[in-house]
Amino acid sequence: MTTNLQTPIDYLKGVGPNRADLLRKELGIHTYQDLINLFPNRYLDRTQYFKINGLQSNNAEVQVVGKVIKFEEIAQKRGKRLVATFQDETGTMELVWFRGQKWIRDNLKLQTPYVIFGKTNSYNGRFSMPHPEMELQEEHEASLRSAMQPIYPSTEKLNNKGITNRMVNKIMQQLFVETKGRFIETLSPEILESEKLISKSEALFNIHFPKNQELLARAQYRLKFEELFYIQLQLILKNLIHKSKIKGLPFDKVGEYFNSFYKEHLPFELTNAQKRVLKEIRQDLGSKAQMNRLLQGDVGSGKTIVAFMAMLIALDSGFQACLIAPTEILSVQHYNGLLEWCNKLNISIKILTGSSKTSSRREIHESLENGELQILIGTHAVLEDKVKFKNLGLAIIDEQHRFGVEQRSKLWRKGPQSSPQSTENEASQNIIPPHILVMTATPIPRTLAMSVYGDLDISVIDELPPGRQAIKTVHRYDNNRLNVFGFIRDEIEKGRQIYIVYPLIQENETMDYKDLMDGYESVSRDFPQPKYQISIVHGKMKAADKDYEMQRFIKGETQIMVATTVIEVGVNVPNASVMIIESAERFGLSQLHQLRGRVGRGAEQSYCILMTSRKLSINSKTRLATMTRTNDGFDIAEVDLKLRGPGDIMGKQQSGVLNLRIADLIKDGDILKTARYCAKQLLDSDPTLSRPNNNAILFTYQQMSKYKNIWNYIS
Ligand code: ADP
Ligand code: MG
Repeated sequence: MTTNLQTPIDYLKGVGPNRADLLRKELGIHTYQDLINLFPNRYLDRTQYFKINGLQSNNAEVQVVGKVIKFEEIAQKRGKRLVATFQDETGTMELVWFRGQKWIRDNLKLQTPYVIFGKTNSYNGRFSMPHPEMELQEEHEASLRSAMQPIYPSTEKLNNKGITNRMVNKIMQQLFVETKGRFIETLSPEILESEKLISKSEALFNIHFPKNQELLARAQYRLKFEELFYIQLQLILKNLIHKSKIKGLPFDKVGEYFNSFYKEHLPFELTNAQKRVLKEIRQDLGSKAQMNRLLQGDVGSGKTIVAFMAMLIALDSGFQACLIAPTEILSVQHYNGLLEWCNKLNISIKILTGSSKTSSRREIHESLENGELQILIGTHAVLEDKVKFKNLGLAIIDEQHRFGVEQRSKLWRKGPQSSPQSTENEASQNIIPPHILVMTATPIPRTLAMSVYGDLDISVIDELPPGRQAIKTVHRYDNNRLNVFGFIRDEIEKGRQIYIVYPLIQENETMDYKDLMDGYESVSRDFPQPKYQISIVHGKMKAADKDYEMQRFIKGETQIMVATTVIEVGVNVPNASVMIIESAERFGLSQLHQLRGRVGRGAEQSYCILMTSRKLSINSKTRLATMTRTNDGFDIAEVDLKLRGPGDIMGKQQSGVLNLRIADLIKDGDILKTARYCAKQLLDSDPTLSRPNNNAILFTYQQMSKYKNIWNYIS
């Protein structure tokens, strides 16, 4: 019999109600199972002792052997502190207690060797250690199970209440005593064998009480694998269930619009990557299941035309389509671009944004509901409840990272009613969700994409249209501005256009705004009218004014566009060849990459100039160096992930997937790939997990969904 791991932690010998309470509140440990899954953050080499005269940095965790030679009480503002002089053969340091002083005085033995462990403080070159963990050297050595002492996650409160690392270690030992260290295996024999994993019991033992480095490494590998495996299993299962349950709209017509566009109006030859992705989308749309696909492609890789051709497939089957973009500028641009193609094909298309007039809104609502309007482009305004489609078949979200999960689900509900005689009611309230394509130009590191979008199908455009030259990127300091302006003049002379972008970051808005206006004035002085014309676009302008200025730049009436990051995403002016980013050190990597993507869209050599002050943090330097080193969005995304961590990149909403116990999406990408592969293989061969050998997996999977709400985030 194995111990029931769902036993409340209170029942573990040595825990008791008070400690149980603290463990629950501070670490979320309710049961034996939770405790066993409290994995150490790191391991301390217990064979390494510091000498007192060798202590160096403040706040370092060290282990020292020595004796207490005297105690002293020192009065302070409130109460008193107890200070012990601790000595080894090289010198002395102080141990300090602010609480529990009586117990220390009564129990600590003077002139007896202790091993102390804790964080050092240094003051005037003298080291002290507040509230050290202490153990008689004799006992310490007797209990030394391994050279690697686990250091568990903790909180200040736990420490203050005496639940020290050593205490956690002790109750962990007790847990292993009570359970005899036997734990149910959670993976199948095949996977253990093929991945050469150690058993669950062996892994758990060695993660808490490592026998040696090698076994520790194998324990970590096994547990990381398992953690990632179950997440992937869940995501892939969700995708499978989705495909079998959620009925998709059948796009089965031959395709008049699509074919005539493809044969007669295609403005350029599609790249192989574009063709491949279109094929993937076509397959989805032709299947009986609802499409949920993420299209990733670096800036300028040509996602728009793929989106448009997908819409044509929907139209061919008599459905409507919509495309939503995060900013007004971008929607307008999409609208203008697609309008041209739509006119050729005789397709009705309209745009709806926050600044659409009431009369045109009414017209749009009407024509959407009666089905006259075939394509709607717009911003968040499209998501409003008032906007109803007659039969929305395909919804596309551009620059998905600017939207949340809720927006995706809002689109779901805009699908058509399934016919009354249809009895399948899996889809909510008889609504058949439109096919959904989300596009992003902010490449997501593969490991993140697999974890966060693991339930979506992913297509990647990994090829730029031919003839593009790599953008040359340089970093210049502010005092080089004269040279930079000289360069701009030359480029304008050649007929090119220039962007100059300023940061505009909320909390600093007034100052940033002033920077922008000062910059505009100084540029206007150096590039005087009438020879030079300058546009300015920023967030405080009215939509109509923004649009007017944008249009002037697009038409080539102005040579310089001074702007804030409103132009960050999607804007497409192929004749613009220079992107100057002011205060570049203040931008994040993905923003810099997006901004740079505004140039290099034509056949000409393009440039990106990152202007900064001389004061740069290490992270800023890394970002600038990355930008000058590479144009590859995926490469940049990997660096970004390392600099910022997964939570920051994906935002709070997805943090559930990223709250990992032991695996690390940055470092464990390879394990993740293996885990996903294994999960896929498993479900391919046994979709319902009903084979006896997969019992353990089915059982674990069900237990997880039963006792933990960790799966809720995927809903
Ligand atoms: P993004 O993927 O960043 O949205 P766009 O769809 O805006 O990129 O395309 C960038 C530019 O490349 C546009 O000017 C577009 O017309 C052009 N383009 C797209 N595909 C091709 C192609 N296969 N050959 C040549 N030019 C292309
Ligand atoms: Mg785009």
